[in-house]
Amino acid sequence: MIHQLVYYSRNTVPGGDRAMLTNMRDILSVSQRNNSRDGVTGFLIFDKTWFVQILEGERAKVTETYARIARDTRHTATAIINVRDVPARLFPNWTMGGAMRTPEVQEVYLQHGFGGPLEPGRLKSDQVVNLALDLQAFEANRRQGQKLAS
Ligand code: FAD
Repeated sequence: MIHQLVYYSRNTVPGGDRAMLTNMRDILSVSQRNNSRDGVTGFLIFDKTWFVQILEGERAKVTETYARIARDTRHTATAIINVRDVPARLFPNWTMGGAMRTPEVQEVYLQHGFGGPLEPGRLKSDQVVNLALDLQAFEANRRQGQKLAS
């Protein structure tokens, strides 16, 4: 069984889109290094106010990773939406994938009924997982398109 934890938190790093993108890239690169060591996979959604993240892996590793993340001052008020055991990983290929909310991915948010800001206190974990899966697919298609064009 794979342990899956979904939480949200509020961003504390000020700045415009460029600063936020740099922050997101820093977080993802450290995450990818640590998570590949720990067998953790998942996806990080960032809508510029809120982070919503899915962590999957061995229970002890997921718990340890979340404890480390929760101490990070780049965000605050971390709150767990759901923890559960799932039969298989939903994000097997991503030691941590991520998508910042940019105009490019707005259509994906709209398809999931998120026209305005996220209200993470009202989100169900399945809504988060489904949005993350489509953001992941969007990103994979975009990369594939880039490969074909080059
Ligand atoms: P360190 O060597 O301690 O730090 C690596 C780099 O990150 C350094 O360059 C440092 O400048 C920078 N950094 C670390 N902490 C801070 C901070 N508090 N403020 C500003 N810069 C900092 N980590 C994971 O391992 N897996 C995850 O999935 C994951 N997801 C995250 C999601 C969010 C929304 C946030 C905010 C953080 C996440 N992190 C994740 C990062 C985590 O909080 C720790 O910073 C990281 O795990 C520390 O790893 P380290 O000890 O190997 O790196």
